[in-house]
Amino acid sequence: MITAVKGTQDTLFPEIGRWQRVEAVAREVFHRYGFTEIRTPILEPTELFVRGIGDETDIVNKEMYTFADRKGRSVTMRPENTAGVARAFVEHRLHESPLHSRLFYMGPQFRYERPQKGRLRQFHQIGAEVLGDAAPGTDAETIGMLVEFLQKAGVVGIEVVLNSVGCPACRPVFVALLKDALAPRAGELCGDCRRRLETNPLRVLDCKVPSCQPILDAAPAIADHLCEACAEHHAGVKRILAGMAVSFSERARLVRGLDYYTRTVFEVTSSALGSQDALLGGGRYDGLLEEIGGPAMAGFGWALGMERLLMVVPPAPSGRLPWTYAAWAGEAAYERTLALARHLRREGHVVVMEHAPRSFKSSLKRADRMNVKWVLIVGEEEVASQTYTLKDLDTGEQEALSEASLGARLREKTP
Ligand SMILES: [Zn+2]
Ligand SMILES: [Zn+2]
Repeated sequence: MITAVKGTQDTLFPEIGRWQRVEAVAREVFHRYGFTEIRTPILEPTELFVRGIGDETDIVNKEMYTFADRKGRSVTMRPENTAGVARAFVEHRLHESPLHSRLFYMGPQFRYERPQKGRLRQFHQIGAEVLGDAAPGTDAETIGMLVEFLQKAGVVGIEVVLNSVGCPACRPVFVALLKDALAPRAGELCGDCRRRLETNPLRVLDCKVPSCQPILDAAPAIADHLCEACAEHHAGVKRILAGMAVSFSERARLVRGLDYYTRTVFEVTSSALGSQDALLGGGRYDGLLEEIGGPAMAGFGWALGMERLLMVVPPAPSGRLPWTYAAWAGEAAYERTLALARHLRREGHVVVMEHAPRSFKSSLKRADRMNVKWVLIVGEEEVASQTYTLKDLDTGEQEALSEASLGARLREKTP
């Protein structure tokens, strides 16, 4: 038997219905904010991610599906979508098109991670990016749109956690300060922290090892050491968020994993996740477009893992599907059933019909296993009398109905 590649999965009905609902809510909300959808290729030149995500990150170092194509060019299956969006933006000169400065995407991403609960190698993200607007209102509005989407999708207990990681002017100053502050106690930090203190000191603040916590909690906060422009930006984001009635808190140790963030970084948590883990995160990445060979332009965005989101979205409704299974026996009944199905479908009803002859008993069994609510029974008698039997599988009730009244009756009975 051939099985799915490790870390990938098939999604079937009715579970797929939850995906489609979440995606529909996303499209509806983003549309109202003037965001348009972008679909970028899954395959991108490897260099895009090396330059866009940073070669110091685990994603680029350990987790990418990278291979040489038949001409020996190195390509990578996208591990995230921001770099691809930025690449498309630069390639198509979208900075000349105000219509395309607010973009959203949804689709599969690929990372070669150790398979564990909730972590797939093919996973799916919904994300949004605003390119070319450096003002704090962009950060606030895009976070506000996200919160509206999550609430509409049914996520409860949403909290926005905010921080600023500064800019190329003030961050290096803070990083030096942080290294000095942590140096006397470096021996007490975990191995990861000690290594990061050399390679990427800001990310030390991210450590979750319990023994590191008191030391890191006592470390200086970057928000207290921002340059004037960054401090003004940060204050602006908070002021506009408050005006939008989006509740948020600040966390001094919030730094995001990717190297390209500048100024605003944020995470969203949900009480429904039942842990301190974030539902998603994002931030400002003003240097990214330049990094991949584009103009010096601002960017802000976030990405949300679908699989993670679906853990906190209400389950699909249980109970029978409001569908009709059309059961028939005999050649004349078959022709009649084709016509009835066509008629009911045109009126908007869901009608399932099987075309290989089978007994009514077998049809009823299959309808029950499909978990549909109604069976339409069309036998020789029904064809002769032109009244058809509609059976409700929940109650066992049967009704005789004319073709003209069938659709209206189904509509009345649909919950
Ligand atoms: Zn700054
Ligand atoms: Zn540590």
